[in-house]
Amino acid sequence: MKQFNLEFIDGRTLPVGTFYCIGRNYANHAKEMGATIPKEPLIFTKSSQALVNNNSVVKLPDYSKNVHHEVEIVLSIKKDCYNVELTEAEDYIDGIGIGIDLTLRDIQSKLKETGKPWEIAKSFYGSAPVSELLYYQKIKQKDYNFNLHVNDHLRQAGNTNNMLFDFKYLISFLSKKFFLRAGDCIFTGTPEGVSEIKKGDTAQANLESHVQLNVKFE
Ligand code: MG
Repeated sequence: MKQFNLEFIDGRTLPVGTFYCIGRNYANHAKEMGATIPKEPLIFTKSSQALVNNNSVVKLPDYSKNVHHEVEIVLSIKKDCYNVELTEAEDYIDGIGIGIDLTLRDIQSKLKETGKPWEIAKSFYGSAPVSELLYYQKIKQKDYNFNLHVNDHLRQAGNTNNMLFDFKYLISFLSKKFFLRAGDCIFTGTPEGVSEIKKGDTAQANLESHVQLNVKFE
């Protein structure tokens, strides 16, 4: 059976669980999508088979004509938890890295129009490239800069200062709805600048200068 494993910077691996993804967590991205700014986190999921590791090739689905990149900081959960209080939420973060929430924008738009779930547009095979993970407790910072280059051109740049809901809030919020397990991940939302990825493109995503994700598309 194919295994989908998170990779840590020291070579450790861990089976990935569910990806909990936060929509519209940066106001300027909500605006560019013509969406309202949410009053509580907007949640959707990707399944574990969406994961691709660093230095992978992602085969873009033929049934979409408009695949978008959304660069996002990714957190992994350290230990099983449910109903975590805000003050303890950070204790449950294991890894931090950088990922791309690949989105079939044309298909998502149609699903939105008809009020249908987003899974086909968001959780397809290869839709969640994630870098090697750093240990959050070792590199904890007040905020983080991150960016995405496509074919060596800067496409997106963000800072977690601009998140509507911060890491602690997201973990506490999710843990009150879902039983979170070690290896589950959170895609924490994308800043503005989402745009198209085409076959033949290469993408480099950076979390500060700490870790880089390199992916090719075909
Ligand atoms: Mg996203």
